Amino acid sequence: MLPSRQNRLKQELKKAFGIILSMTISLSCANASDKITIEGAVSQFGEAIQGGLIIAQLNQGARASLDGTPLPMSASGYVAFGFHRDDQDTILLEITHDSGEIYQTKITPQIRAYETQSISGLAKKYVSPPQETLDRIARDRDAVISARAHLSYEDDFAKSGFDWPAKGIITGVYGSQRILNGQPRAPHYGIDIAAAKGTPVLAPADGIITMADDLYYTGGTIIIDHGLNISSTMLHLESMSLSVGDIVKRGQVIGTVGSSGRSTGPHLDWRINWQQKRLDPQLALTLFDD
Ligand SMILES: [Zn+2]
Repeated sequence: MLPSRQNRLKQELKKAFGIILSMTISLSCANASDKITIEGAVSQFGEAIQGGLIIAQLNQGARASLDGTPLPMSASGYVAFGFHRDDQDTILLEITHDSGEIYQTKITPQIRAYETQSISGLAKKYVSPPQETLDRIARDRDAVISARAHLSYEDDFAKSGFDWPAKGIITGVYGSQRILNGQPRAPHYGIDIAAAKGTPVLAPADGIITMADDLYYTGGTIIIDHGLNISSTMLHLESMSLSVGDIVKRGQVIGTVGSSGRSTGPHLDWRINWQQKRLDPQLALTLFDD
C-alpha cells in the first residue's frame, strides 16, 4: 500500500474509533507482605506497603509522632497513617510513653508494581481540556483538598475496619495508570465497583460529611471524614442523601451509584486518603484479616 493511502486509512480508523491505534497493557500485583510490628504500641494493624493503611493503639498517656510531626490520637488511643502510591522513603514512628520511655520504629513501604495502559492515537480534545474547564477542575481540586483537611477524632474505622460501600463487580483497581499519546495521566486511586444506577452506597465506617457536591470529573462526590486524617471519597454518585456537617454511621445510605461526571458507565469509585495521601481501599478492607 502507498504510504499516503496507509495514512488515510489510519486517519479513517482514528475518526471511526477514536482510539485503538495501539494499546499495550502490563499487569502485576502486589506481593503478600508481612503485617507490621510497632515498638511501644498495644496493638497494630496493616502492612508497610505502598497504598497501605497502618493503625496503632497506644497505652494510656502515650503519644506518637511520625518524622517528628505529632499524630492526632483518638480518646481510645488510636493513631493512623499510610503510604501513598509511590512512597519509597523510610519513615520514623516514635511512641513516647507517659513514663518518658521512647520507642522508635523505622518503616519502609514495600514497593508495588501497578497496571499500566498505553493508548495512542487519541484525538487531542480528549487529552487537553480547554482553559475554562481547567479552571473549574482547579476549583474542584481546591475544594476537595480543604474537605480532606477536616480533622476529627472519630475512630470507628480503627476499631472495626471498613465495610464494602456497595455491592458490585470490581472493574478498576488502585494505582493503575493510563498513558495517553505518550503522556502519563494521573493514576487511578480508587477501586471501581460496577453496579446498576440507583444501587445504594453505604458509609464504610462512621464519620462526618465534609463534601457533598457535583464536580467536573467526578460528578456527585461525597467525602466522609472518618477521623485521625482518614477519609473516604465516593465518586460518580447519581444522588446524595446527606450534606456537609451530617454525621454518618457505618452502613448508613449516603447516596446511590451513578455515572455522573466523566464516567463510562454506572459505578462507584471509592477512595481512601490519609491526609492528602492516597491509600488502597482493598488493603484497608483487609486490615483485620490474619
Ligand atoms: Zn474509577
